[in-house]
This record gives sequence, C-alpha cells and structure tokens, in this order.
Amino acid sequence: MSKLRFKVVDEAFNRKADHVEIPSERPEKYYGKQVFNRQKMFEYLPADTYQSLVTAIDNKEPLSREVADSVAEGMKRWAIDNGARHYTHWFQPLTESTAEKHDAFVEHDGKGGVVEKFTGKLLVQQEPDASSFPNGGIRNTFEARGYSAWDISSPAFIWGNTLCIPTVFISYTGESLDYKTPLLRALNSVDRAATAVAQYFDPEVKHVKSFLGWEQEYFLVDEALYSARPDLMLTGRTLMGHESAKNQQLEDHYFGAIPSRVEAFMLDLEIECHKLGIPVKTRHNEVAPNQFELAPIFEETNLANDHNLLLMKIMDEVARRHHFRVLLHEKPFAGINGSGKHNNWSLGTDKGVLLFAPGKTPKDNLQFITFMVNVMAAVHRHNGLLKASIASATNAHRLGANEAPPAIISIFTGSFLAGILNQIATSDTDELLDMSEKDGVSLNLSQIPELMIDNTDRNRTSPFAFTGNRFEFRAVGSSANCASAMIALNAAVAEQLDLFRKAVDARVAKGETLRHALLEELRSLIKQTEAIHFDGNGYSDEWKEEAKRRGLDCETSVPKIFDAYLSKSSVEMFKSTGVFTEVELEARNEVKWEMYTKKVQIEARVLGDLALNHIIPVATRYQSVLLDNVYKIKGLFPELKAAEIAGTDLLTIEKMSDHMRVIKTEVHRMVEARKSANRLESEREKAIAYHDNVVPCMEVIRYHIDKLELMVDDEIWPLPKYRELLFIR
Ligand code: ADP
Ligand code: MG
Repeated sequence: MSKLRFKVVDEAFNRKADHVEIPSERPEKYYGKQVFNRQKMFEYLPADTYQSLVTAIDNKEPLSREVADSVAEGMKRWAIDNGARHYTHWFQPLTESTAEKHDAFVEHDGKGGVVEKFTGKLLVQQEPDASSFPNGGIRNTFEARGYSAWDISSPAFIWGNTLCIPTVFISYTGESLDYKTPLLRALNSVDRAATAVAQYFDPEVKHVKSFLGWEQEYFLVDEALYSARPDLMLTGRTLMGHESAKNQQLEDHYFGAIPSRVEAFMLDLEIECHKLGIPVKTRHNEVAPNQFELAPIFEETNLANDHNLLLMKIMDEVARRHHFRVLLHEKPFAGINGSGKHNNWSLGTDKGVLLFAPGKTPKDNLQFITFMVNVMAAVHRHNGLLKASIASATNAHRLGANEAPPAIISIFTGSFLAGILNQIATSDTDELLDMSEKDGVSLNLSQIPELMIDNTDRNRTSPFAFTGNRFEFRAVGSSANCASAMIALNAAVAEQLDLFRKAVDARVAKGETLRHALLEELRSLIKQTEAIHFDGNGYSDEWKEEAKRRGLDCETSVPKIFDAYLSKSSVEMFKSTGVFTEVELEARNEVKWEMYTKKVQIEARVLGDLALNHIIPVATRYQSVLLDNVYKIKGLFPELKAAEIAGTDLLTIEKMSDHMRVIKTEVHRMVEARKSANRLESEREKAIAYHDNVVPCMEVIRYHIDKLELMVDDEIWPLPKYRELLFIR
C-alpha cells in the first residue's frame, strides 16, 4: 500500500463512533425549537399582527407594510433570543443547491454605536447581487437585477447563528430564476383544478393540497479516505476503481444492523432535523454497502421540499462532525446500486380526504377512480416531460441501469386497481363500485393478527408506482431538488383535471347525469391512456421494445431528453397552468444544457489528470520493476530457461503497455473532443457533443485503469480501493 493510502486506510479503519450530545428532553420538547412556527409567532407578535399573518398565510395573500414591519420586529426578537446574529434570504437558484448571503442585524445608532434592527422591507424583499447565478440569458437580455421575496407559507428558521427566511428568486421582469417560484405556481394550479373536480363529490371542499414524502438515499465515506480520492472530492463520484470482490452480492446490507459510527451520525442528524421541524422518522441501511436511507413523515409539498434541501445541508455538516463525508451523488460507485430520492406524492382535500386512497363507500370510490385515472392521463400525455424533470448529468448513471428506474416512464397500478379500471372500461352500466372488502391473509400464527393485503403489491422496477394511497415517483435523483419533478407532475395533473372538468361539465350541460358523465369520461380516458399502464418488469429488454410500440418516450440521451420541456404539449401545458412562460422554459433549458456540459467537463478534466499524473506514472514504475526482473533473470539463466521463467512477467509487461497506450490515446481523444465541443455556439449542441463524444472516452479510460489496478503492485497503488472505501467498521 502506498504510504498515503496506508495512512488514510489505517485512520479510517480505527475510527470509533463519535459522541452524540443527546438532549435530556424528549423530542416533543425540542421539536421545532429553531423554527418561527405559529406557536412562536403567537408568543412574539402582537395579537393583531399574529392574526393578519396567519390569515395571509392561510389565504395566500400579501402582507401590508405595517404588518411586515411588526412581523420583522417580533421575528428578530425571537431570533436574537435564540442566538442569531445574522439573517439571510434563503433561496433555491438553478444550481440544485441553496443560496444565502448573510447580513448582521446591526445598524448605526447615530451615537457611534450600533443597534440590532430588522425591518419589514428587509424581511419581505431583497436584491441579492445575483449576476452570478445561472439564468439562461434572462438577465442578460433584460436587467441584471434579481429579487428575492419572502415565501410566507414556509416558516423562517435558525441554522447555525443565522435566521433563514425562505424566499423566491425572480428577475427584474418577473421571470423565475429558481425552483420555488414555479413550484408555488404549480401547487396553486393543482389546488384550483383539483378543488373544482373534488367539488363534484363534496361541494364543501375549498382547497386541495399536494403532499410530498421524500426518501433520501445517500452514501457515507470516511473523511480520510475521501480526501485521498480527488475524484470524489471534485466530482462527488469515483471516476475509477475496480469492483470489490465482495460488495452487495450477499444482500446482507439492506436493513442490516447499522454500524455504530453510522448510528451515532444518524442520531445526531435526527436531533438536528427535529429541532428544525423536519419530521424525519425512518432510517435504514440500503442495498449497497455504505448506503443508507432517511425518510420523514410526509408534508405539504412546498414545505417538504424546503425541508429536503435543508436536510441535505444538515447532513453534510453533521457528517463532518462524525469524520464522514456524505455522498449525495446518484452513482458514487460503479457496479453497485446508486442513490435515488423516491418522491411519494398525493393530493388531499381540506376536509382531510386523501384523493388517491380507496374509500369506504362507492361514492368515495368514484372520486378515487376519478383522480387516479386523471393522474394516469397526465403522466401519459407528459411522460417525456416527467422524465426530463428528473434528468441530469449525475442521474444519467442511474436511469435505465437495471437497478434503478428504467429510462421510460410508465405507471404501475397493481392487479387490484388494474382489475377495477378494466371493469369500468368494459362495463356499460353506471353501477358504482364497492371496494371496501379487502382480502385478509391469515398467517395461521395466533400471535400475529390477520394481515390486510395492501391494495398494491410492490414492483420495484416501476418509475411511477401506485402504493396504496399515493404515487411513488422513483426516478428522482438523490442530489436533485425535488421541486423539478413536483413542478412537472403537479402542473401536468392540473392541466388534465381542467380538461376533465370541462368535458364533464359539457356533458352535464347537455342533460347527462353527473355520474354518467363522469363514468363516460373515465371510460374514454382509461382507454386512451392504456399505453402508460405497465405492471411488468421495467428492466427487461422486451419492455423497451414494447414501450417503443406504445409510443412512449424512450430517449436515453440526457441533453435530448431536455427537449421535452420545449415540446408543443409542454409549452401549452405550462402556459395554461401559469407555471412557466415560453421565455422561462427556453432560459431554463439553456441552464440545463450548460450544467450538463460543465459537469461532464469537470469529470473529464479530473479523469484526464488522474490518468496521466497518478495512474500512468505508477503503472510505469511497476512495469519497470518487472522489466528489471526480466533482465536479471536473463543474466542469470540460460536463454531457454530464462524465457520460461520470465514468460509471465513479459506477458504482464505487454498487457500493461496495451492498457497504458489506450489510456494515453483516449485521454488525448477526450481532450480533442472537448475542444471541438467547446467551439460550438449552441448550449444544446455542446451538451450533445459532450454526451456523444466525451462520455464514451471516459468509459474506455476507466475500463483500462481498472484493469491496471488489478495488475499493479498493491504496495504502490495511490488511490484507496473500493474494498477500502465501501466498508465502514
Ligand atoms: P417505503 O420505503 O416502503 O416506500 P418509507 O416508509 O421509507 O416507505 O417511505 C414512505 C414515505 O412516503 C414516507 O415519507 C411517508 O411519510 C410517505 N407517505 C406516506 N403516505 C403518503 C401520502 N399519502 N402522500 C405522500 N407521502 C406519503
Ligand atoms: Mg418507497
């Protein structure tokens, strides 16, 4: 083992679990301690201000200047009482991370000293110097200014010593430059459209909320090992590394016992999350070694998404406390599972009814079927767009890779629901369905009660699965901002519900009964959207062929997948729901292509550097040891004998030469491919060139480096190997 490698492996393997500061109180006492929630608002705001704020939040109305000033004053007092010195507008630029610029509360007091102040103006709106955030040309064309504005539906919180105020981020001319603005627009749109349809069944419904429960997968790596891998540090994934002889074959990691170092990290993380009002609940080992998952109780989508973004930050910080690095990359290690972020999604009314949960009465069930079928229709019409909403340079490694969602969007319903849909489509009566009788399974174990079979069985190969009372969008990447998927999905469903409502109303206007009108429309939708429904194995080659025949989007090149945002149907849908204008869509696609190119570019540079400056020199060194050996053998033994003895060494020398030659020529080709791609004007063409010409070189280079790893003396191999990176003691 090289000296450095030995040192870091030794350090990592001998590390013990870190101490965790466990609060003496139970979670219910410290939960939300760092959040300016309604209880704190009540405590810190004058009664009329509290009332105005709560009303504004509930009715999605703007605040008056006086109320804003009063809120700012109370919020500042609370923040200072809890150790904050700074405040920041916390927003979500198109970088898949969050941004913040801290300002201290201090202002001149006019007597040579300072006072701590915070005004409504500063709370509600700011003008961050935003020219360095991705904007796809919007701010070049119009005005260089960007504005952040308080999203009152997501509570302010204290992180570190800073009061963080969740905000939207828009340009001078009103275009969104972030994820939150279009997400809020999509949520408003689905609220309006779904409420109108839900009122067929309950005229009292006033609002429909969208819910999100994300499941965050991640890897942990010891910090010493991490710092000895420049590829991990700079790109978030290993660009080389031969498979470990043992990885996940024995299926012993999933739900396995959690190593004590990891458990300490998880506990610390959960305590921090609970203080910040993030309702994390579930933790377990995932399939791959060193892979784990964390999931909260689901929440309203905008809040859930803020919480997920905050979680990713907290994870990073807490991991460092425990001498780990958390890897959120979708594919940090080749040959083992990658990480995703399943988005469990549902809609529910303000009367507490979950619209994707089969009900107790036939009437409830007509409502359930109505919403199910409309979701299927929306996903059918926009399957290409939904795939685009989860596509990225990093998630590309996971999609269609036979261990994660296929690169074709389809819906799994399970046999129960499939049967019902079929029954509706083929029957010509308006009888309502009674689905309340679920089958019980008796286990014949007296101590364990009868299990109710879930209305769905589980199909892990489906990218969009119905799981009992919600849909699970599984194609979302682990590092992604969930908003991207949630914007496309909620907006698409809003559009479909609008169309549905119009069609049903037209029938009723012609004298049909509501029930008949609903069932007729559902029947025709079920037939039209058959193509999206697939309960089989999404990883199989037959499905790829079948999906093509069905007319589903089968594109696998990420830069081309992004085109779906600019298709006629997407532009119309986003326009009709008020989520994006065409200008915004075009600008955002420029950003997507640019990001894709940059990510691949960075990886290609790091790989080229490691190949030429780390791997080739070490391989050459070992090769010359072998050559030296051959010469010595030749000097000592008679010619025939020498040839026999040195034979295997000579073979190795030759093979190594072959690998090294390919690596050098491929690095050269890769550099040339980059140069010619960089000369392209169009961001789209550039991204396609990187995808088509640079990525394949990287794969070849890696293949040959991994071969060399198996040949070169372990003593001098410079980078920690997979078997060292992947098994936390
Ligand atoms: P599994 O891994 O079996 O899918 P988990 O318990 O890990 O399940 O995660 C399920 C996630 O789905 C949790 O975040 C949970 O709160 C969320 N969830 C449950 N019901 C709903 C619902 N109706 N809408 C949205 N999310 C939901
Ligand atoms: Mg799940």
